[in-house]
Amino acid sequence: MARILIVEDEPAIALGLEDDLKLEGYDVEVIENGIDASRRGREGNFDLIVLDIMLPGKDGFEVCRDLRRHGVSTPVLMLTAKAQESEKVMGLELGADDYVTKPFGTHEVRARIKALLRRARPEPNTETFHFGKTTVDFTRGEVRTNGNTVDLTPLEFKLLALFVRSRGRILSRDQLLAGAWTPDTFASDRIVDNHIANLRRKIEPDPAHPRYLKNVRGLGYRFDG
Ligand code: CA
Repeated sequence: MARILIVEDEPAIALGLEDDLKLEGYDVEVIENGIDASRRGREGNFDLIVLDIMLPGKDGFEVCRDLRRHGVSTPVLMLTAKAQESEKVMGLELGADDYVTKPFGTHEVRARIKALLRRARPEPNTETFHFGKTTVDFTRGEVRTNGNTVDLTPLEFKLLALFVRSRGRILSRDQLLAGAWTPDTFASDRIVDNHIANLRRKIEPDPAHPRYLKNVRGLGYRFDG
């Protein structure tokens, strides 16, 4: 089972998470300060790191930056104390993969951890990807729902492929523009939103309440497949 490092200095939160994740069958280690976290994160060969921001010694931002600078690509789930956009943006820019805002429910943390681990695991078959009743066939550049071909434009297919390959992870509008549009086209955030709305109409069972292509307020979109 996956090995998870929890970096959290508040004993109640650390213990709650540790118990919960152990019950789920994960191998869990807890560290309470940023300096040890940087070291263990590099040596420990973990599958995922849950990282608080306010920590003694070194804060979570510094720990994350340290790890990425040392080439550690272990997924990092940040725990942000406040619903502050700036904290989330900064964490993601420094190389964190996702975040949950305190106070969080154990169900939410578990779901985010599962998504990150799934994403990090190499795909046994990268030619096709399934979500719900839909199959994305990368070889043929085709999407099918219940066996029927979904009529996507090449741009919509590119967007969907980008989301599938980055699933569980937030993609900003800038990242989507860079990944799916050709560099010389004029495109704005609004155009990204319009294309995503079109894509949702084609792939979501209920486009008004997206199940797969989620909007993450102020940050971008995330595919939960
Ligand atoms: Ca803290």
